[in-house]
Amino acid sequence: MRRIAVVGAGQAGLHLALGLLAAGYRVTLVAARTPQQLRGGRVLSTQAMFGPALRIERAAGLDLWADRAPAVYSVDATLAAPPGVRALAYTMTLDEPAQSVDQRLKMAGWLELFAERGGRTEYRAVDRAGLQQLAETHELTVVATGRGELAELFARDAGRSAPQPLRTLCCLYAHGVGAPDPAAEPRARMNAIPQAGELYLQPALTLSGPCSILLWEAVPGGPLDCFADRPGPVEQLDRMRGLLREYLPWEYELWAEAEPTDALGNLYGAVTPTVRHPVAELDHGCHVFGIGDTVVLNDPITGQGANNAARAAARYLRAITEHGEAAFTPGWMRRTFDLHWREEARHSVEFTASMLAMPEHLQRVFGAAAEHPQVARRLANTYAEPSDYPSWLATPELTQAYLASL
Ligand SMILES: Cc1cc2nc3c(=O)[nH]c(=O)nc-3n(C[C@H](O)[C@H](O)[C@H](O)COP(=O)(O)OP(=O)(O)OC[C@H]3O[C@@H](n4cnc5c(N)ncnc54)[C@H](O)[C@@H]3O)c2cc1C
Repeated sequence: MRRIAVVGAGQAGLHLALGLLAAGYRVTLVAARTPQQLRGGRVLSTQAMFGPALRIERAAGLDLWADRAPAVYSVDATLAAPPGVRALAYTMTLDEPAQSVDQRLKMAGWLELFAERGGRTEYRAVDRAGLQQLAETHELTVVATGRGELAELFARDAGRSAPQPLRTLCCLYAHGVGAPDPAAEPRARMNAIPQAGELYLQPALTLSGPCSILLWEAVPGGPLDCFADRPGPVEQLDRMRGLLREYLPWEYELWAEAEPTDALGNLYGAVTPTVRHPVAELDHGCHVFGIGDTVVLNDPITGQGANNAARAAARYLRAITEHGEAAFTPGWMRRTFDLHWREEARHSVEFTASMLAMPEHLQRVFGAAAEHPQVARRLANTYAEPSDYPSWLATPELTQAYLASL
C-alpha cells in the first residue's frame, strides 16, 4: 500500500485525502485544527461553489450538505453610478445551482468523515523540519496549507502573479438579511461601484443554519477600504450599513433586521494573486508537491479558489491512481500540475485578473448583459466554468465578435 502525506486539511487537502483513502492509499493527513477548533473558530471564506465543482464533490461522495445549503440559481447584478443611483440592473442565471457551506462546518465534517473511514489525522502545525520528516517517510507529500507560511517554499511565478493585492476584503456572516422578493428562491447579489469596488451577497449555510454572507471587495485606498482596524462583527455591520446607505441604498433597506451570525462571523484581509511553481525541493533530494491556494491563489472577486481546489484535488487524485507503482518524481509533479494549469487553473486565474482590472471590453459585456439575457447567462456560467473565458472574454476582438453575432 503506497504511503502519501497530505499537509493541510482545507478544501484541497481534505478532498484529496478522502479520495486517496477511498482508493486504498495509506494516507497521513496533517491538520492544524481539530473539528472542534474549526467549529469554534473564525469564518474562513465565502466559499461559493458552482455547479461543476459541486458535481466533482458529489461524485466523490463529499456533498454532505447538499440538501441543507441554499441552492442559488440566480445572481442579481447592479451597477451603481454615481453613488446611490442604480445605473443598470438585471438577473443572471446559472445553469446549475451554486452553494456555499461555511468551511468551519464543511472542513470539520470532512475531518470527521476521514476519521470514520479509517483515516489517520495528526493534529499539529507543520514547519519546514516537519515537512522534511514527512517527505522522507512518504512516497509523496502534498502541501495543501493554503496561504500559510509553507507556501513560501514554492517559488513564485512572477509572470503569472500580481505584485500586490488589488482589493481589500471584508466579509460578514449575518442572519435576518431581507430579499427584494421574499417569495423568490434565494439569490446572490452583485453590486459594482465604479472606482470603489464591489459588494457580493451570498446565501449560505453556517453553523446556526441558513445565512447571508456579505463580501466587500474594496479598491485599496478607496471609500470602501475602511475596515483595516478590524472591527468586531457588530461594529463592522454598523459601518457596512453606513456604506450601504450611501452607495447602495436599495441594499441598505434589506439590512434593517440583520445581525451577525456569531462573534467570529467576520473577516478582514487581502490576497495578492499568486501562482507558484508546483514543486518545492527540500533537503536530501526530497521534493513536495503543492495544491490549491498554496500554488494558485486568486482574489475571491470571482469566487474561484475553492472551486479550483476541488478541481485540483480531482485532477491530482486521478494522476496519482493512474501512476500505479511508479515513483512520484518532480517531473511527474510538474506534468500533473501543468495539466491542471492548462485545463483548469489558468482560466480561473485569467478570468479573475480580468474581472479585477475590468477592461473596456468587459464593461461592454456587463452592459450587453442588461440587454441580452443570453449574454447575462453566458457571463454567469463563465464564473461556474471559467474554461469558457478564453473563447469570448480573453481579448477585445473575441468579445467584439461575440457581441456582433447576437
Ligand atoms: C474572503 C474570501 C472569500 C472567498 N470566497 C470564495 C468563494 O466564494 N468561492 C471560492 O471558490 N473561493 C473563495 N475563496 C477562496 C477559497 O476559500 C480558497 O481558495 C480555498 O479555501 C482554498 O483551499 P485550500 O485547501 O487550498 O486552502 P485552505 O482552505 O486555506 O486550507 C488550508 C488548510 O491548511 C491548514 N494549514 C495552514 N498551515 C498549516 C501548517 N503549517 N500545518 C498544517 N496545516 C496548516 C489551514 O489551517 C487550513 O485548514 C474566498 C477566500 C476569501 C479569503
